[in-house]
Parts: sequence; C-alpha cells; structure tokens
Amino acid sequence: ENSKFAKALKAEFPIFHAYPDLIYTDNGATTQKPARVLVAEQDFYTRSCANVHRAIYTLGEEATSRYEEARKTIAEFIGAKPEECIFTRGTTEAINLLAHSFGETLSAGDEIILTEMEHHANIVPWQQLASRRGIKLRYIPIYDDGILNLDILPQLLNRRTKLIAVTMISNVLGTRNHVEHIIAQAHSAGVPVLLDAAQAIPVEPINVKELDADFVAFSGHKMYGPFGIGLLYGTRKWLEALPPFMGGGDMISEVGLEGFTPNEVPYKFEAGTPPIAQAVGMAEAARWLSSIGHQAAGNYESELGQLLIDEISLIPGLRILGAQPGFPLGPRAGIVSVTLEGVHAHDLAAYLNRHKITVRAGHHCAHPLAQRLGVVSSARFSFGAYNTREEVFTIAEILQKAHKELL
Ligand code: PMP
Repeated sequence: ENSKFAKALKAEFPIFHAYPDLIYTDNGATTQKPARVLVAEQDFYTRSCANVHRAIYTLGEEATSRYEEARKTIAEFIGAKPEECIFTRGTTEAINLLAHSFGETLSAGDEIILTEMEHHANIVPWQQLASRRGIKLRYIPIYDDGILNLDILPQLLNRRTKLIAVTMISNVLGTRNHVEHIIAQAHSAGVPVLLDAAQAIPVEPINVKELDADFVAFSGHKMYGPFGIGLLYGTRKWLEALPPFMGGGDMISEVGLEGFTPNEVPYKFEAGTPPIAQAVGMAEAARWLSSIGHQAAGNYESELGQLLIDEISLIPGLRILGAQPGFPLGPRAGIVSVTLEGVHAHDLAAYLNRHKITVRAGHHCAHPLAQRLGVVSSARFSFGAYNTREEVFTIAEILQKAHKELL
C-alpha cells in the first residue's frame, strides 16, 4: 500500500522520468525536487524577477511580496512568526550566523555543549568561535547503539554553559535525539538550545513553539526544495538581543560615516540580496511536504530503514552503524550506514552505482562520530518519500551479491 503511494509520488519528480531505473538513496545529502518546486522557482524568474525591498515599481513590489509570502509560508510550516525566520544559504550558514552573532555575547571561559554525533556544520563554527574567544566546548557522549547518553547532561551543564547545540537527527546513524528532554533540562538551567534540524525537517513536522527551541537551523535542499536556501529560526527575544552577523545593504535602517543603526528583525540578519527565487521554491516544497502527509512520509521512510536493516543484518561481515544485534533500535529516521568487512566503502558505493543505487560513502562530514564508532568510512542509505519497498529488496539483494563478489 505504502509503496503504491511512493510510486505515485515518484511521478511528480522529473528526475525519475529522466532515469526510471535510478534507485536514489542519497536523500540525506539532498532530496530530489518535485516539478511543483521547479515550476515555482521558474515562475518567479519568468513573471516576478526583480530585487526585493528597495523597489517602488510594481515588479519590484511583486518580487518583495512573493519573497515575504515565502517567509510567511515557512514560518507557518514551523509554527513561528515571520520576523523570527531568517533566510540563509542553508544549515551551515545558519549555524555560522549564530556562532558569530551569539558568539559576540560570550567571553573567555564560557562553555557550549555539543554532542559526539554532530555534523561538521555544527562543530567547526563552534571550534572557530572557541579559538577566537577562548570558549570551552563540551560533548554529550553516545552509547555504542548510537543513542546520546543524556544521563551525563546534568554534569556537563554548569554556570558557564551558554548554549547547547544539538542535532535532532544524526545524518549518519538516523538516531532521533530526545531533544525535548535536552531543551527542558537546558531551560531549567537558563541555557538556550540550537537544534540542527537539517535531517529532521524532511521527516517530521516541526513546531518550534511546542518544542520550545530557541534556535533552529535547516536547509531547503534536504526538504525537496532548491539549493542555496535555508533558514535560521530564532525567538524574537533572542534575535532582537543579538548583534548582526554580515554587514551590507538591507540589514541597516540608517548609515552614517561613523556608524550604522541595524534594521529590525529579521532584516537585521539578511545583508545584501537574498536568495529570492530559492525562498519561493522552498516555500513550495514546504507546501508540498504538508500536502503529502509530512509525518506519514517520515514514518514510511523509517519503516524502509527498518526493513533494510532486517533484510541485511545477517549478511556476514556487514555492520550497521549504531545498531547492536539483539538490542531494539531507538527512534530512527530512514538512514542506514553500513560497513562491509574487507571492502572499502568507496568500492561498495561504486559497486552499488553499477546497479544504479546511489549511496554516499565516506565519513559523512562527521569525523568525530566515525572515530567514536571506530570506522574510517561507511556507505549510507538514506530514504526519501519516493523510495519503495521493492527498492529496499533490490538493495538487500545487491548487498548480498557485493559480499560475495567484492571480497
Ligand atoms: N547538519 C546535518 C545534520 C546535515 O545532515 C547537514 C547536511 N549533510 C548539514 C548540517 C549541513 O547542511 P548544508 O550543507 O545544507 O548547509
């Protein structure tokens, strides 16, 4: 039944018309784009193309209103107010923005808590900040089954803790972290929380107010939207208190030779010409996700992940990262990373590619996690709403063959 739904969805994606045999399982890196999103972006360029915010003429007003409509759509999509939504180039830029802006408020000896399973995008900006300002980073460790050891959190939190920055879903393990618990603990200590929702936004409806998150970052291109667009959500209270990151046009209300007055939120954080058409495309992707049943799609992808794990767990020499034989899996997205003993992950990926199966092989931009798990590289299957159970069975078959042919 569910796979029928996926097949119908597939028809909405031009890329699967171009490559009908493609088994696209690299959705953690980026999702494919439904025609609706491409059309929305093209329609902006075709009928509304002008720069935003500075125009008095009709076309410019039209561009501005479409851009601001897009902001409103994304705001509604995550239960936020438009002025709390800053368009960025993606998750990476959103986190860098915060590291710079929030970083300005910190001083030597202050502490930030991360986890051992973060993507480099949620490690390196904090390390850069740490070396700029003498800040200490602490890490929530993981258990061998890929779950955060949250019992440690009270020991890590102290008077110097200024922020917890944590991923909602690991891009390598698929683990859905108990961020609700982390936020409650952090807030009881008066500490704000940044959620890296890059992997979560395509698979679960996020309501930032219900979550009570202070900051949330995600990318358009991982939620069936365009490249070059993402979002930083921040509560109005925080955004008003923080200094701007980049300087330039649009982020000021007044400029003199001696200085400037920042614009109001969110414009204060959007220097220069923003990714206008991409914002329009991202808003369309949000509408599309809501229209297909956002939570149902995420649940379905988790089931595909579980099915793959069930199908391949007996292959000799195959290790599923973050899954311990005999232990039930915690809440997980449809992301499965594997290693095959004696076979380099790149060779496995190339073998799979010959069978039109696309996987990412490497450290998945999470070196510390790879080190913690004791692997150099792994091959990652990450499912999208259009993947089918048949595809999972094909992948399992090919992995069986890979074990025999590659060793
Ligand atoms: N965080 C996580 C958990 C991710 O999976 C990714 C993308 N792989 C990023 C951050 C970075 O996203 P982007 O490259 O779109 O900025």
